[in-house]
This record gives sequence, C-alpha cells and structure tokens, in this order.
Amino acid sequence: MEYVTRIVIIGGGPGGYEAALVGASLGAEVTVVDCDGLGGASVLTDCVPSKTLIATAEVMTNFDSSYEELGIRVEDIASDGGSAAGPYKERPARVVGVDLGKVNRRVKRLALAQSHDITASVTRAGGRVMRGRGRLEPGQAPDGSRKVTVTAADGATEGLIADAVLIATGAHPREIPDALPDGERILNWTQVYDLTELPEELIVVGSGVTGAEFAGAYQALGSRVTLVSSRDRVLPGEDPDAAAVLEDVFRRRGMNVMARSRAQSAKRVGDRVEVTLADGRTISGTHCLMAVGSIPNTEGIGLESAGVRLKDSGHIWTDKVSRTTAPGVYAAGDCTGVFALASVAAMQGRIAMYHFLGDAVTPLNLKTVSANVFTDPEIATVGYSQADIDGGVIDARVVKLPLLRNPRAKMQGIRDGFVKLFCRPGTGIVVGGVVVSPRASELIHPISIAVDNNLTVEQIASAFTVYPSLSGSIAEVARQLHTRKAASE
Ligand SMILES: Cc1cc2nc3c(=O)[nH]c(=O)nc-3n(C[C@H](O)[C@H](O)[C@H](O)COP(=O)(O)OP(=O)(O)OC[C@H]3O[C@@H](n4cnc5c(N)ncnc54)[C@H](O)[C@@H]3O)c2cc1C
Repeated sequence: MEYVTRIVIIGGGPGGYEAALVGASLGAEVTVVDCDGLGGASVLTDCVPSKTLIATAEVMTNFDSSYEELGIRVEDIASDGGSAAGPYKERPARVVGVDLGKVNRRVKRLALAQSHDITASVTRAGGRVMRGRGRLEPGQAPDGSRKVTVTAADGATEGLIADAVLIATGAHPREIPDALPDGERILNWTQVYDLTELPEELIVVGSGVTGAEFAGAYQALGSRVTLVSSRDRVLPGEDPDAAAVLEDVFRRRGMNVMARSRAQSAKRVGDRVEVTLADGRTISGTHCLMAVGSIPNTEGIGLESAGVRLKDSGHIWTDKVSRTTAPGVYAAGDCTGVFALASVAAMQGRIAMYHFLGDAVTPLNLKTVSANVFTDPEIATVGYSQADIDGGVIDARVVKLPLLRNPRAKMQGIRDGFVKLFCRPGTGIVVGGVVVSPRASELIHPISIAVDNNLTVEQIASAFTVYPSLSGSIAEVARQLHTRKAASE
C-alpha cells in the first residue's frame, strides 16, 4: 500500500490555508486546525475587514476631494463651519454621510463569506478542517513523526500524528497595560466592526501602517481624527517621501497629526476617552483606537519544549524554506515575524510544503515582495527601498516624478503622489520602486514584474502604455533613468 504523508497545520490564516491547498494538491493527507475559522485573522479581523471598510472610505474621499474641481454640483450643502473644535481644522461641507452600522454589517458578512469559501476550497482539495486549539507535543517518534493535540471549545481533545507540522498561528494586537481596550470606546482593530455609530472624535494611537490606514479611513468617513505618533512622522517604516506626502494630505484634510507624542494611558471618562501622553499632555475624544503593533501567537502551544527556537521577540526562528530548529516542524506567517503580510505568510506556507514534500522549491526572497499602505493616496513599494540606497546597502540611481505632471492625473483631479524608480547604475536593472497614488496597489505590478525578472529601465520604457494613463508615469520615470544612464556612459 502506498504511504500517504500526514501533515498537520496549526492556524488557518493565509500561511496555513495556502499551505493546506499545496499539501493536498501534492497528495498529502492534510489537517488544518484553527480556533477561529479558516482565513484566520487576515480574513476575519485584519486584512479583509479593514480593506472592506476602506472601500467605503475611498468612495467618500474621491467624492470629497474632487467633486468641486470636476464640476459636480451639490445642492443644499449643510455646512458645519465653525463647529470644528479644538485642534481640528474645519471640515469641508458635506451632503453625503455614512451609515456605519450598515458598513460594518457588510464588512462582517464579506469576511465570513470569504472564510466559508476558503473552508470549502480546502475541503474540496481533500484537506480536513478541525475547529480547536492545536498544541505541539514534545519529542519525535522513532519514525520521525510528531504529535499535535487539538482541544475543542467544549474541552474534548484529539491527538493527531503528523510527519510534518506547520505552525501558522499568526499574531494578536499588542496592548499597553494602562490603555486596555474595553471594546466600546477604547478599541483595538479587531473590535471596530462592532461600532454602529461613527465615532465623532477618534484618537488613533500608533502611526504605523495599521494606525495610518484607520486614521485615514475614519477621517474620510466623517470622524474628527487625531493621530498620535511616538515618532517624528507618520509611517516611520515607509519611504520618507511617501510618508511626507501622506502626512501633508492628512493635515490638509483636517486631521490632527501629533508627532513625537507617546501615549502612556487611555481611560474612560464618562462617555469620553482621555489619552495621556508621556510628557503629561492629555487629549480627549469620544473613542480611541489602539494600533501599537502585534504579539506573535507562540505562547503556550508547546513550541520550546518541542525544540522550536523562539527569538527574543517571541517570533519563531525560520530559515528561507520555512524550517524551524525542530526537525519536521515548519512555521509561516506573522508568528515568524519575517514580514507581516498575508502574501508573505502564504508564500512561506507554500514553500514549507514544497520543501517537505520534495517538490521544486525557491527559497523566500524578501527583495521581491510588493506591499501597499491602503491610505488615500495609497503607498505601494517593491524591492530595495530608499533607506537601503541611502544606507549603502545597494548602489542605485533614483528618479522621482510627481503625478501632477501626468495628463491622466490632471484630468482626474489627482494632485498628490509620485512614481519613484530605483535602478542599478551600470546595467539599468530595476531593483525597486515606490508609487504614491490612488490605486498604487495596482500600479506597482509592472515594477514588481521588472524587479522579479531583472528587467532594465530601457525595457520598461520601451513598452507601450495607454494614453492617458497613470502608468504612463512609470514608463516616463524609466525613460528618464535610461536617458541619464546613457548620458553618464
Ligand atoms: C488591520 C490589519 C490590516 C492588514 N492588512 C493587510 C493587507 O492589506 N495586506 C496584507 O498583505 N496584509 C495585511 N495585514 C497583515 C496580515 O493580516 C497578516 O500578515 C496575515 O494575517 C498573517 O497570516 P497568518 O497566516 O500568519 O496568520 P493569521 O491570519 O493571523 O491567522 C492565524 C490563525 O491561527 C489561529 N490560531 C492561533 N493559535 C492557534 C492555535 N494554537 N490553534 C489553532 N489555531 C490557532 C488564529 O486564531 C488565526 O485564525 C493586515 C494586518 C492588520 C492587523
């Protein structure tokens, strides 16, 4: 009888379910164990819900920021001029508003439907899905197999034997002890979808990607937003030119952006929330969203006693083919702390399966990862960064072209944004790029293809683009880099 390899995956987010699909397609007997539902935090609380909320915010922003210029007449505008209090600028007059209860019902419906679709795909592929909490037991049997114990919500347990185990347990929101969420007015990003009314005054603590995305979205939906950043600018980990554009847009739209302001505590004061900063200042709002990072879900699931090494941060150490330090145990996604992106989690999971099941495997290459900040404008990046170039990690030429000069942008009333391309000085090979524009997440793809395939600026410049189009700026920036390269030779 033919031996069928048994794989147990703990955690059913993108790292886990994408691995399950690959494992099943390669003929393994795959079980995915998840305590919340397939799709994981990505689908149920993080990526999918936030982008669905942002879809509504995007429509609001497009309308608000361009209707006048595009000649759209809006009758009977009820101005709230003068009602803006405290640090907020006066909001533009509005005739459209948001029914947050309806928006959030749509968000949850969509997330659940996607979770069901993923469960159906995994099951159709031949995988088994188990609801419960998985735990890796110590030791390996003489045949190399390992044991995972699954505890269901009712306390019932079941032992699973696996030839390989993939840990893909994700992460959860970090909390500040003096600012614990109450789920009503002090919230983390998994709780905001229970709101039925738009927060009047929202304080967002944390100006990383999650904080910036929510701050921008609620501002567009109609909240007065204060963004509290402990650093000297928003998005400290992103391209500095891109972050500067976004911060400028945020401020112009009336957001109160507080730099170098570390939040120390948040507490309820009646129907309001008071946030105290490290320097003693206080800010008051109707709601507060804490977006101060994530903690990996690696505690209490038997990892260290099974020989899985954890980093000081609590993340699982892995190599480029997703192996941990314990033979037969792989890890993928946010629990590894490699790159907190659904796409990277999925790739790590697939790589683990290809590696264990003996298929052709390409080790994880983080220099080709494309990522996007879903603000307005969006910020998309791929490959080497400006910081890599400034820090001497790679020698590259840089050209940045503002979108203002792009004919399509002018027609659309788009003023903020740019395309920036990085190429090697000698060969002109494209090594990275940044796009700041509406739908930058779509526009980055040609640059991603270039980075992934070592294409040159000349090759990018010589491909036709539609006239007029925003992607014309990508060809133009490549043309400028090519011309400068030719001139310097
Ligand atoms: C607000 C927000 C927005 C984001 N937006 C984007 C985006 O637009 N694009 C993008 O690429 N990334 C985005 N991310 C990041 C993305 O969500 C994560 O990188 C992704 O979810 C990681 O996937 P994962 O498979 O590691 O784990 P997760 O998606 O976190 O799933 C892990 C699953 O494992 C379960 N689990 C944990 N412990 C156990 C256990 N012991 N037994 C059984 N099950 C367990 C969890 O309950 C969960 O269901 C966003 C993150 C946040 C916070």
